Amino acid sequence: MDQIKCPIQNHENNIERFCHFYNCAEPTRLMCETCEREQRHIATHKGWEKIKEIFEFIEKKQKNCEIDIIEQLDEQFKVLQSNFIQLRGGLELKYFLPKIKIEKYNGVQLNKYLCDLVKLPDIMEQFSNLLENFQTLIKNIVDFQIANNINCIQKADDNQQLSDYYYEQGYKLYEIDKFQQAIEVIEKSLKYNEKNIDSLWCKSTCLSLLGNQSEAIKWIDKALSLDDSDLDSLCRKSECLNQQGKHKEALIIIEKAVSIYPECIDSWFRKAECLSLLGQQIEALEILDEILMVYPNNTDFLWRKAECLSLLGKHQEAIKLADVILNVNPKHVNTLSRKAQCLSLLGLQVEAMIWINEGLLIDKNHINLLRIGAKCLSLLGKKKEAIEMIERISSQDLQTLIIKSECLFNLGKVEESLKVINQALIFYGNNLDLILKKIELLMAQREYSKALVEINKVLGNNQNNIDLLWMKGECLYRNDMELQAIQVLEQALKLNQHHPKSLLTKGNCLFFTKNYQKALQCYTQLLEENPNHLEAQDQKQQCEKHLSNK
Ligand SMILES: [Zn+2]
Ligand SMILES: [Zn+2]
Repeated sequence: MDQIKCPIQNHENNIERFCHFYNCAEPTRLMCETCEREQRHIATHKGWEKIKEIFEFIEKKQKNCEIDIIEQLDEQFKVLQSNFIQLRGGLELKYFLPKIKIEKYNGVQLNKYLCDLVKLPDIMEQFSNLLENFQTLIKNIVDFQIANNINCIQKADDNQQLSDYYYEQGYKLYEIDKFQQAIEVIEKSLKYNEKNIDSLWCKSTCLSLLGNQSEAIKWIDKALSLDDSDLDSLCRKSECLNQQGKHKEALIIIEKAVSIYPECIDSWFRKAECLSLLGQQIEALEILDEILMVYPNNTDFLWRKAECLSLLGKHQEAIKLADVILNVNPKHVNTLSRKAQCLSLLGLQVEAMIWINEGLLIDKNHINLLRIGAKCLSLLGKKKEAIEMIERISSQDLQTLIIKSECLFNLGKVEESLKVINQALIFYGNNLDLILKKIELLMAQREYSKALVEINKVLGNNQNNIDLLWMKGECLYRNDMELQAIQVLEQALKLNQHHPKSLLTKGNCLFFTKNYQKALQCYTQLLEENPNHLEAQDQKQQCEKHLSNK
């Protein structure tokens, strides 16, 4: 905007100001340094601004035009249209009577209808007045257009201009989270050009943010059918699929984006996200570590890394990362929730509740905070508070059902807990989280053989799920199959050599088969990171006792 030359002849400078004084008599409303020196505008009137303010001015005037003219025109058109329809319908009703109705008329009715028909020339005379008024109205509209130099749409360029204009307006609404209103404006944009990729993307994004993933995918597919390598569209589609829980499909789409735009950090991040959601934490961490080298302070990247670490059972490391984020942004609710979850998984329910309450002060309806809070409260034995918190979650989605079952379990109601999971399995089919929960409950009831059946059903597709591997190891151990158990546990420890549960069970297997020296190593390793682990302390002592007796 500041690179435009002054339109006045012999003025060599770029424009610096613009004048919006209504009665300005100067030849141009644009002003350069020379204009100012020549005292143009300045000597006679006020009402000019720096050129960088011009868009603010333009927007204000566009808004005026929209409210005072366009909206009035739309309103009058609607009124006129509805009057037309009423008039037309009324005329039909009055004059177009079917034979079947006329045959049933009495004398009075028939006489009246006959009179109406005979007097038709009367209304035709009035009608021609009406027609004349319409002709006048049409002429007025055309005159108004000519007088004010207003052209109607003639070229494809005109359509593109209006499509872009309404896209810009819709995008502004999207930016301030007014998604429904944004969609309405974007539809105007698409009316002028149904192939506007930006508008298709914006509509899809708004629909997705309003929770309507299948509609969102429909619109982004339209964009991709116009350009199947558009980066924003690929990212949007992958995001929608993730929201639908279709992480594998989402990964395929985002891998396409990564291969076309390997320099785009955002698509790498999204790939890491997909991998993490698919349970491939180590692969996700590899990518995250690389992009964090470029952007070491990016909150999203750090948060996702904490998430991956936590899913690998590395809760202490995850908490450290969460603290880094909270240091920069103490109100980052997703981080508060992650930190609380880690503390809870480390058995520190009271500490976890502190962060949950802090988070709920910022967002009282945050679903994850409510879920973790309910679980902590149930672990603390606060039954009433736990149930109250779970009831604050309005939706009966998958994760909420899982937490509900966990709360019931923690409150000692194992049967009821299993019932919730079995019901959820009917709705959500082969969802891994549900199956994991079911296995956990079967194990809690010491039904290790039944648990093994469930584990073997899903392990094939989830070879890198550390919890699943540990569960299998634990069940095998409980069924006196120590050697097989150790094999599986070593697979788990390959994913995370400090995984506490796997170390404990492996130690127990070795202890039970009288390999006290090796068992001692497991317990010692476990205690290095978890010095307060009571069972490990106890078992370690037992090992030492056996070893010294030899
Ligand atoms: Zn002026
Ligand atoms: Zn000038």
